[in-house]
Amino acid sequence: MHFEEFVTLAPYTTLHIGGPARWFAEARTDEEVAEAVRFARARALPFFVLGGGSNLLVRDAGFAGLVIHMGLRGIRQDEGRFAVAAGEAWDSFVSHAVERGYAGIECLAGIPGTVGATPVQNVGAYGQEVAETIVRVRAFDTKTDKIVDLAAAECGFAYRRSLFNSVKRGRYIVTAVTYALRAAGEPRLSYADLQRRFPAGTRPTLEEVSETVREIRQGKGMLIVEGEPDCRSAGSFFKNPVVEQAHYARIAGDAAAAVPSYPAGEGRVKLPAAWLVEHAGFPKGYTMGRAGISSRHTLALINRGEATADDVLALAERIKAAVREKFGVELEMEPVVLG
Ligand SMILES: Cc1cc2nc3c(=O)[nH]c(=O)nc-3n(C[C@H](O)[C@H](O)[C@H](O)COP(=O)(O)OP(=O)(O)OC[C@H]3O[C@@H](n4cnc5c(N)ncnc54)[C@H](O)[C@@H]3O)c2cc1C
Repeated sequence: MHFEEFVTLAPYTTLHIGGPARWFAEARTDEEVAEAVRFARARALPFFVLGGGSNLLVRDAGFAGLVIHMGLRGIRQDEGRFAVAAGEAWDSFVSHAVERGYAGIECLAGIPGTVGATPVQNVGAYGQEVAETIVRVRAFDTKTDKIVDLAAAECGFAYRRSLFNSVKRGRYIVTAVTYALRAAGEPRLSYADLQRRFPAGTRPTLEEVSETVREIRQGKGMLIVEGEPDCRSAGSFFKNPVVEQAHYARIAGDAAAAVPSYPAGEGRVKLPAAWLVEHAGFPKGYTMGRAGISSRHTLALINRGEATADDVLALAERIKAAVREKFGVELEMEPVVLG
């Protein structure tokens, strides 16, 4: 295993931002993951697990520890069960399953990043989330230094959440994920955008649905297409906030336009962060120096070219302050900040 020094992280992120990692190594096996952790410990350094860098903002000063880049590869299929190594590209795995007629992840086409990161924030889009199909997560447990197999029920999945990014953040390094998919299954058409494309009575194939999802994503600047400036983002920069019903009623009472909302259980409602950002004065295409908002998606903060992490964070702070002031809602960042 090769440990490199002072590796610039910007090219490893979809925002193309970030300073150097003091140490950087690619782990290709479970054993190399363990070796990397030992390397960091021997030098009393923190370590960070890097997948595709698509949910990540690396600070300009970089990271004074070891970045472990997940390079584990391979897909093993046993009927409808697919055990996929953490370093496989997620979107390639979606195509792999769809081409073989397996349903369950077709609406998650076009999401960048790696398989190993999907359980971390319970990746979801267009009416599906990985928590519905994950049966097992294999991980290196840095507390016991052993490889463990966690059943889905042990992973604490919720909206953009799991034990990997909450109560046990940093403890597990996911090395493989097993998904249970449905052979010859019907595609999921629960999302309004998809229902419009495929009205009741039509019976699209899994391929048609996953391709349509990619098209819709591209239209919103949510598909990574080389050379498109709107793509230099980390996806949605803010989570959809959940507020008490009474708080929602106050916002709706004050607002000039109808405020969209979705039930979130126990007298609470989820508000679209995009609506709040837009109505706090930040339309698509808004710019602030080298940072800005995608011209096709209000929630995607972008690097307009040569932006620094500080530029993006300053824009995020300006947006958060305006939303707090106008609606009394505290927006939470979705991407992880490193450094
Ligand atoms: C254009 C665009 C569109 C997007 N659309 C969506 C969307 O529709 N839905 C959605 O949910 N997300 C979306 N995202 C966010 C992102 O793609 C997902 O969060 C993705 O799962 C991140 O994967 P990654 O490999 O790039 O993780 P990274 O950005 O490399 O890492 C993210 C976090 O996960 C941790 N991590 C990564 N791999 C592992 C591992 N093997 N073990 C333990 N921890 C790990 C990292 O340490 C870090 O904390 C989008 C991003 C972009 C840029």
